[in-house]
This record gives sequence, C-alpha cells and structure tokens, in this order.
Amino acid sequence: MAINIQAIRGMHDLLPDRIGLWQRLEDETRRVLESYGYSEIRTPLVEVTDLFKRSIGEVTDIVEKEMYSFPDSNGDSLSLRPEGTASCVRAAIEHGLLDQPRRLWYRGPMYRHERPQKGRYRQFHQIGVEVFGLEGPDIDQEVLFLTQRIWRTLGLEGLRLEVNSLGEAEERSAYRVELVAYLEAHHAHLDDDSRRRLLTNPLRVLDAKNPELREVIAGAPVLLDHLGEASRRHFEAFCAGLDDAGIPYQINPRLVRGLDYYNRTVFEWITDDLGAQGTVCAGGRYDGLVAQLGGRPTAAVGFAMGLERLVALLENGKANGLPSPPPLDAYLVAVGAAAQAAAPGLAELLRDAIPDLRLQCHCGGGSFKSQFKKADRSGARFALVLGEEELKRGILGVKPLRGDGEQRDLSHEELESFLLAARQDGP
Ligand code: ATP
Ligand code: MG
Repeated sequence: MAINIQAIRGMHDLLPDRIGLWQRLEDETRRVLESYGYSEIRTPLVEVTDLFKRSIGEVTDIVEKEMYSFPDSNGDSLSLRPEGTASCVRAAIEHGLLDQPRRLWYRGPMYRHERPQKGRYRQFHQIGVEVFGLEGPDIDQEVLFLTQRIWRTLGLEGLRLEVNSLGEAEERSAYRVELVAYLEAHHAHLDDDSRRRLLTNPLRVLDAKNPELREVIAGAPVLLDHLGEASRRHFEAFCAGLDDAGIPYQINPRLVRGLDYYNRTVFEWITDDLGAQGTVCAGGRYDGLVAQLGGRPTAAVGFAMGLERLVALLENGKANGLPSPPPLDAYLVAVGAAAQAAAPGLAELLRDAIPDLRLQCHCGGGSFKSQFKKADRSGARFALVLGEEELKRGILGVKPLRGDGEQRDLSHEELESFLLAARQDGP
C-alpha cells in the first residue's frame, strides 16, 4: 500500500481559503513600514550555524535545542534561520550598509524545533524591523509607534505593551552577582534547566517558562535598580515619549527576552486572547551585536512579530475593517470548439485593455450549463458568454451573477467600456 507523504510536524500549508487574511496582513504591514521610510531586505533561509551561535547566544533555548542544523557536503555546519536579526546584521556588515543610519524590514519563514502547540510551530513567519546607526530613545519610540500603527491599521485591539531596560553589559554583571546569590539561596526551588543556567547565563533564569518557578522569579532582585545614569536616562526618555504619545504600557522588570544580544530597551506586545502564546511582537535594542559579529560598533534596535499569532487574532474577530480578497470581475464561458479556441486570445485582449481586470477564462470544455455553474461558483460578478453565434457576430453575452439582471449582448468595444465602468464602481 502506498504511504501518503505528509507535511512535517509543526510546519503548515497555507491554503487558498485562508490566504486572503495573510495577504491583507502582509500588505497592510508593508504599507505602514514603507510610509515610515523602511526598506525591505531579503536574506537566505540558510546561514552558517556559527552566525546564530555567536549572536543569539550559546546558552539560549534557540541555540541549545531549537535549531535545525545539518552538515553541508563540505562539512560546514549550516542552520535554517531561527530568526531574522542575525542574518540582517550579517548582510548589513557584508554589504557595507552601516555607513549611514538604515531602517530595514524583512518578512519570511523562520525555523525552530520546538514542541508544536497552538501558537508555536516549527516553521512560522515573522515580519521584523532592524534599525542601524541610531542610538537615542527617539528611534526606540519610533519602532513602537510603528507597531502601534500596524495594530491600528489591522483593527487589532487590546494588545498590551510591556517594556523594560536591560542596561549595559557592565550594569548587568554587577546585577548578576546579586542575582546569583539570590538564586543560590533558592537552589532547592529551581528546576534542572535553571540550575544549569545559574552557572552559564543566570539572567536566562528570569525567562524560564516553567510556572513552578514563578514565585522564585518574582522575588528576585531587579535589574532596573542597577542601571547606570546613562541607561536610566535613556529608559526614562523612552517612557516619557510613550506617555506623550498616549501609548499605555507597563514596566515589567522581569522581561529579559529569550535572546542574548539585547541591551537597554526591550519590549513585548502581548494579547490575553491567545492563551499561553500571547506575545505577538517582541524586540529591543542590541547595540553590541554588530561589533560582536565583526562590524564597526553600531547602535541597533529592532523587533519581530509572529504572523501566525496575528492571523489567529484576526480570525478570532479581534479585528475590524479587514476587507476580504477582491472577487473576480468576470468568468469567461466558451461553448463549442471554435469559441473555445478563440476564448483565451479574447481574454488576453480584454486584459490588455483593462490592466486591473480580474478575469478567469474557463478551461477544460464542458456544456454551457456546467460551465455556467462554475462561473457562478467562482464568485465573479459577471459571466461572459462566447458561443458559435456570438463568435460569428463579434459580440459577447454579459450576464450579472450577483442579483438580478438580464443577459445583454455587447460588442468587444462595448464590453471593454462596460468592464472598465464596472471596475470603477467596485464590487
Ligand atoms: P516565546 O517566548 O513565545 O518562545 P521568543 O522569545 O522565542 O517567544 P522571539 O524570538 O522574540 O520569540 O520571536 C518574536 C515573535 O515571533 C514572538 O513574539 C512570537 O510572536 C513569534 N514566534 C516565536 N517563536 C514562534 C514559534 N515557534 N511559532 C510561532 N510564532 C513564534
Ligand atoms: Mg521561544
């Protein structure tokens, strides 16, 4: 018996019935990004594994256990990208993009070998932003205003914003001493992962997902109390900008993010409507990463939003005003050998004349009745009918498929004007 091959667990096909929502999300987001002057960048799905080890950090969930890594035929270790920032930084250094401030965005699939569950997949999609060469809190605000505008454009309501500052490396090392002392005193309450992290990267313990650790984490010393003067001023100015813009937020001193490269401002947009996987967008500053990957020291800030989670929210009806995909304008029915032979050429002439025309030409023959049924099911506004008689007379029958209306015979020129006018009226 033949065995059916299926998609890999945690990796999903996006089928035509749901693709409209994805396209809306992508198009609307792209429009907002372009309106703020951000340029798209596209990088390969596969990079050398070291890029992610050196940027995301060896002692993170992603690098420790979530990467799809494999040897290339020459023995190099390659990985499917688990996120977009490292690749953007690599590309920006490699192509000398960092000689001036850059506002970049990207979109595409990411790969992490996680336990699949609602809102958590092994292939998922992100739209992200990376800004290079700007160090003030004004750009941190800008990326938040931009995300806020994306939510508004999509009609998404009820997203909460949490912010924190991770300070600078020196500030974190002073804090680390205190945190380690605290965690050692509570060693008995830690799980195995956290005990290991206590030795390798204790700040990661604050990011632990295990609910049994919640209490210990809640009692831990707070990094915000260890910020130096410059970091504190940056954070205060950032928060003041959000206040001025009327964007509500909550300071969450436990927010550390799951990747190692962040410093100073970090943030997450969270919904309460998706259960445990409620973070739909996350990001922050990573001023050290460019130098860490071999470039000149360059300030940087960015975020990534998870499209599956946003689509889930949109499907939950948390969005208003998202139009559904545009219907076809017309479906061309052709009956009889001569008409069938002529139909594709005629359809091309109509497409030439009306550039935005959404026209589907029936293929595969069949009776008038069966073709007309397909026209009706296609969702088109009009059926165009071409039979032997119409062909001979140089006309087409036009029959409205929505509501009432008689079939009319139109010459090709009349049909062009008719379809043009119909397009302008909208569906
Ligand atoms: P989480 O804490 O949920 O694991 P993360 O800190 O690993 O998230 P980031 O690397 O910051 O997430 O990714 C940014 C966004 O991408 C997340 O907020 C989420 O919306 C989305 N995302 C991350 N991992 C997945 C996944 N496995 N499946 C679906 N979406 C994801
Ligand atoms: Mg994760």
